[in-house]
Amino acid sequence: MNNVVPNHLLKKHQKNILNEKKYNSENLQTLKSSIKKLLKDKNGVLISHYYVDHEIQKLTEETNGCVSDSLQMAKFGQETEADLLVVSGVKFMGETSKILNPEKTVLMPTLEATCSLDLGCPAEEFKKFCDQFPDREVVVYANTSAEVKAMADWVVTSSIALDVVEHLDSQGKKIIWAPDKHLGKYIETKTQADMIMWDASCVVHDEFKFQGLKKMKKLHPEAGILVHPESPMEVIELADAVGSTSQIINASKKLDFKKFIVATDKGIFYQLKKESPEKEFFEAPTAGEGAQCRSCSQCPWMGLNSLENLEKTLIEMKNTINVPEKITLEAQKSLNRMTSF
Ligand code: SF4
Repeated sequence: MNNVVPNHLLKKHQKNILNEKKYNSENLQTLKSSIKKLLKDKNGVLISHYYVDHEIQKLTEETNGCVSDSLQMAKFGQETEADLLVVSGVKFMGETSKILNPEKTVLMPTLEATCSLDLGCPAEEFKKFCDQFPDREVVVYANTSAEVKAMADWVVTSSIALDVVEHLDSQGKKIIWAPDKHLGKYIETKTQADMIMWDASCVVHDEFKFQGLKKMKKLHPEAGILVHPESPMEVIELADAVGSTSQIINASKKLDFKKFIVATDKGIFYQLKKESPEKEFFEAPTAGEGAQCRSCSQCPWMGLNSLENLEKTLIEMKNTINVPEKITLEAQKSLNRMTSF
């Protein structure tokens, strides 16, 4: 994490990890009531990712918002009648909501929350890369900037990436894939499609390690292993199920294991335990060094979302997401393909 995550953020993240968590029941209720009232007054709805603080996830459920993966978050924004979308997650999720719903106001609890995949694929460099291969279909992961999406033929999330590439391959199309190299490798292995890869990775999933996971499996031989495909290939190969966050939750319900080792951001544990309270879930080991948190299974940017900054955003109507019209119109084409695939 140290190479990509700015130092000030890393310190904040380490402090959060060490002081987990932070609400007493009185201030929790006050914050939640205030946010509920603000949402009602402003005809707003919460749209939250599985990786954010479980109290935000709970409040989103209590207010009939959407807690989901990035594909369902995008679809929900289009379906809801609310005028105001409050997106808890990272920046590309807010941008996607705005591009698909330009007439709605989109706010985020913090504008500081980004993603190493988005940061690792700057639009200008990506354009130069694509220009070298004009005959290829450009398929980008949702974890990219609005500018990169505007250059793409397709935007995909991890829940449909495999199917979209299979579909393109069956039409004889060659592919440029960006930005996650591990997800790209996984798809290439599964489909045998002709893919040229951009080289970036997720700071969380890149840290799941083959040897550590094997050791853990020895400790819990009866446990199933669930892995997000942003993880390295040798980790994926140990999995009983590989998939997006939604697919991991579904697998944990369907598979006949009583225990699971889970290789994705630990924010997902709230939903896993809620869906299967009788089952036991363990975090897959990372290269982390305990309390020093050289790495851990928690995204430092997702962790910036809190009930406090969510309330403040709603009171001040700040942290508005805006995307230039030209980019919106271009990115809508590839995003609409994603939501209607
Ligand atoms: S967990 Fe990884 S892919 Fe998801 S937002 Fe964080 S850095 Fe990006």
